[in-house]
Amino acid sequence: MTSIRVGIAGAGIAGLTTALALARRGIASTVVERAPQLSEVGAGLQISPNAGRILESLDLTEALDRAAVLPEAIDLRSGRTGEPIVSLPLGESARRAYGAPYRLLHRADLQSILLEAVEAEPRIELRLGAEATAVRQTRDGATLSVGDETLDFDAMIVADGVRSKLKQAVDGASPPRPNGRTAWRSTIPVGIAPRDLPHERTTVLLSRDAHVVIYPLRSARLINIIVVIEEDWGDDSWSGPGAAEVLRQRFDRDSTRYISRLTELDLQWTRWCLTEVAPTGTWVDGRIALIGDAAHAMLPFLAQGAAMAIEDADVIARELSNAPVPDALQRYQAQRRPRVMRVWKTARQAGQIYHLGGPMATARDLAMTALGGRRLLQRYDWIYGWRSS
Ligand SMILES: Cc1cc2nc3c(=O)[nH]c(=O)nc-3n(C[C@H](O)[C@H](O)[C@H](O)COP(=O)(O)OP(=O)(O)OC[C@H]3O[C@@H](n4cnc5c(N)ncnc54)[C@H](O)[C@@H]3O)c2cc1C
Repeated sequence: MTSIRVGIAGAGIAGLTTALALARRGIASTVVERAPQLSEVGAGLQISPNAGRILESLDLTEALDRAAVLPEAIDLRSGRTGEPIVSLPLGESARRAYGAPYRLLHRADLQSILLEAVEAEPRIELRLGAEATAVRQTRDGATLSVGDETLDFDAMIVADGVRSKLKQAVDGASPPRPNGRTAWRSTIPVGIAPRDLPHERTTVLLSRDAHVVIYPLRSARLINIIVVIEEDWGDDSWSGPGAAEVLRQRFDRDSTRYISRLTELDLQWTRWCLTEVAPTGTWVDGRIALIGDAAHAMLPFLAQGAAMAIEDADVIARELSNAPVPDALQRYQAQRRPRVMRVWKTARQAGQIYHLGGPMATARDLAMTALGGRRLLQRYDWIYGWRSS
């Protein structure tokens, strides 16, 4: 048991999970969040077993199981023809192999689960509608400015996401960089989805310079669709409504028939600028630490951004419960960086492989089919099987 008091800026997945992980180890925290209410855009999140095991250790298993769909497999298919390339088996076999299932969740549901647990925890104070404007190091602590108030803490965790402003307090922190790709997201009721759209599985359609990820949510009543294309962003916003016409033209041109059937549906699309934060920057300065997307936002092609934030939360909470603050934060950075670096780079490579065209794409498909789903999945054992020491 330790009597330190921790400040957390940002109540996204990183901030809320950190507060819970600290509370379970007897450490009190204050979480400040600029949004007056926690509400997430209607989109899905794949929570792989490495993150799921940590959430389970926070007593969230029952709530997660109520809200999640467990996909039978991840199917990779040709975007042009819809023909299968390879299928990675999940379902119960993932639970057996990795100690937790591969879950598909609505973002709003995961946020509600975390929020409910936070609100039930007396060691956590959550302040909504409280925008933090600065984090500062003092001689034996750190301060957080919120409106006219200055809050004092023993340690300050900056979890304000990919566009972090507060990370200016950490010398050498990496800036965000647009990646030249956009993600278009929509959800549709299963009733209006094309009949042959797979409902119990995650489907990834591979296409030249593009890919599409489709998976079920909420007892498979909703279908989540993400279309990733190569496209520069062009303004200062980072998400906004997307015109379906752009996708129609994009896929007509490449005659990806299977995908164009999806883009022909009359859907509301939200378009996101895919942005990275290189994990090589500094994450820790004295009593201030960056976690989650603020430290190392990655491309979503391995579905590991939130998973890495959840792993960060687990490690930083354990270290803060074991060592004086500056040492604990240094140990957090030293442990997390090599793993995050590897995942971050592998996500980049996945983007290149997914977007191949012509003979290179044919070679990729043949190689994946020859390898087979089980062996392909085993290549990700180091991600899904990770346990904090
Ligand atoms: C298209 C797409 C698909 C994805 N799919 C997956 C997936 O399937 N699986 C997966 O693991 N990851 C996925 N990710 C990544 C995942 O969404 C992020 O990595 C994760 O949400 C990061 O969480 P975070 O808490 O670090 O940041 P955020 O979720 O951005 O939270 C930051 C919080 O800080 C608050 N805030 C900001 N500034 C301040 C301030 N000054 N004061 C107070 N509060 C502030 C914000 O309001 C926000 O609530 C995907 C990403 C994209 C773009």
